[in-house]
Amino acid sequence: MTTEKFREIARDLGADLVGVAPVERFAVFAPEANPLAIQPQTHSVIVLGFSIPRGALQGLEHATADYTLGSGIPTTLSIETTYQCCRRLEDEGWEATPLFRQSGDMRRQGVRVSPDKPEPNVIVEFDFAAHAAGLGEIGRNKLFLTTEFGPRQMFTLILTDAELAPDAPFSGTVCDDCGACAEACPAGALDASTLQRVPLCKGQAAWYPLHIESCRVCRTGTTRLPYSTDSEPFRLGAACGRACVAHLEDSGMLSRKFASPFRPEKGEA
Ligand code: SF4
Ligand code: SF4
Repeated sequence: MTTEKFREIARDLGADLVGVAPVERFAVFAPEANPLAIQPQTHSVIVLGFSIPRGALQGLEHATADYTLGSGIPTTLSIETTYQCCRRLEDEGWEATPLFRQSGDMRRQGVRVSPDKPEPNVIVEFDFAAHAAGLGEIGRNKLFLTTEFGPRQMFTLILTDAELAPDAPFSGTVCDDCGACAEACPAGALDASTLQRVPLCKGQAAWYPLHIESCRVCRTGTTRLPYSTDSEPFRLGAACGRACVAHLEDSGMLSRKFASPFRPEKGEA
């Protein structure tokens, strides 16, 4: 199985984005967050991305239907595609472990079975993986941004012993530090006066410090991600996420184009 062949299969099955990172790029993580603690023979971490339709944000954007985003989150497709990709890898004799995003607060909720193993659950950092697999970067609003969809996607992972040729870690720029996400937040939960920095496999992520307790009670459009206990609400539909969609599209920074702007000028709609 080559990376290009796998990419073709995954796209045919419904993935919009496909990236591969060698497991060595996760060496910065303790066993509690390291893929090798789940599947010790892992060579490659595959990241699959599934776009969330822009139109799914419109009910929130116009404050007329707060359920539209939930309708647009590709839960069924992402599960089915990830499962079928695992089957295709295992058809060729490679083991494939599917992972769906889980909340970090599920770590250390079980009993260590031996001194050399971490306490369950081991939770892999998806945004780190997506950067390591070349798919994009974490923006100042702490949402993952890709050059095609901005913040409008969700990810699944596959751990496999297949030695797939890796993609380079992302080295471009999507976020331009415009501050629109922070300005849009009615609670002032993003502090644009400073940056919180976190090491990546190459370089650092930097985002505005986020007061997550405000997000937990935010009424502008937070939602739950599927198969997560929701320690951090999913903020794409909230004011901070939608402001980012509007800014990145208006700035021409995304490769995915639409016939109409996300936010028409007043009188244009
Ligand atoms: S989710 Fe709500 S409170 Fe949190 S940063 Fe976004 S707009 Fe602000
Ligand atoms: S709104 Fe601007 S500063 Fe905030 S994440 Fe998007 S591009 Fe970056």
